[in-house]
Amino acid sequence: MARVDLHLHTTFSDGKLTPAELVNLCYRRGLRVISVSDHDSTEGLPEALEAAEELGEMRIIPGVELSTDIPGAEVHLLGYFLDWSSPGLRDTLRRFREGREDRAERMVERLDALGVHLDFERVKEVSGGGAIGRPHIAQVMVEKGYVRYPRDAFDKYLGRGGEAYVERSKMTPRQAIGLILTYGGVPVMAHPTYSSAKSGREGLKDVEGILLDLKRVGLAGVEVYYGDYTPEQVAGLRETADGLGLIPCGGSDYHASGDPGEPEPGSVGPPAWVVEKLEEVRPQGADPPAPSPGRSCP
Ligand code: AMP
Ligand code: MN
Ligand code: MN
Ligand code: MN
Repeated sequence: MARVDLHLHTTFSDGKLTPAELVNLCYRRGLRVISVSDHDSTEGLPEALEAAEELGEMRIIPGVELSTDIPGAEVHLLGYFLDWSSPGLRDTLRRFREGREDRAERMVERLDALGVHLDFERVKEVSGGGAIGRPHIAQVMVEKGYVRYPRDAFDKYLGRGGEAYVERSKMTPRQAIGLILTYGGVPVMAHPTYSSAKSGREGLKDVEGILLDLKRVGLAGVEVYYGDYTPEQVAGLRETADGLGLIPCGGSDYHASGDPGEPEPGSVGPPAWVVEKLEEVRPQGADPPAPSPGRSCP
């Protein structure tokens, strides 16, 4: 079991545990350094920091996960150590979350035309006011008995190319990296290759080329120790990361999704030195995250 997990979600995006529940679960599982990295939101961080403060000996690295598009594929970027409480950043992320709501409603309309009748109000309710996403639609489909597990909803309807899939306008990876750097964060590419737990999600075609290109605009790391990646995938990605001088990061990408076989927090993670390295390469002149409430650096 790892002691570091740098990729976790809460109810502030598409995770099912509150930040406090997540932090406590991670602690019980032996983790001592975690990043709460919700989609398009840093709003869960105060609660996570407070829960960690109460536990002691539990370090929270502020994080965020941003979705971007390249031709034919989606690239996710994680931002670590960013100035999460900055009003400018929070405003920008709030706008991203608003775009998600519109798209979710259109997907519910598509489903309706396909004979899958969901109440959009219920989808909003299960999203709990956080960043609404396809997993919330999938959850309501499970609730109503249309599918057994959330991932079945992705396979048939919600995945890229699925019958009810609707695009959302997103930034480019360069724009996301720029945004993360502006707020003093360290940009890291998430899950660069195929993950069998997320069946609808294919790997990128030219991972190395894309990484090299993005390194030139400030990408500092890439996920290597990720979710359900096989030992072969991990070894290959580690070689790529080392070859390009990128920090080999990783984590479970835990959502408490209810899908069978979902990687649990700490089931995978990077070596502890990775955290120091990430901290070392923070953009110069960045202010440390606001100390209140809780603390981020014990
Ligand atoms: P969205 O942010 O609305 O585009 O939804 C993407 C989220 O759906 C990801 O962050 C995962 O949590 C989840 N997801 C993506 N693909 C799958 C899949 N094949 N099975 C289950 N969950 C998935
Ligand atoms: Mn997610
Ligand atoms: Mn992702
Ligand atoms: Mn994620």
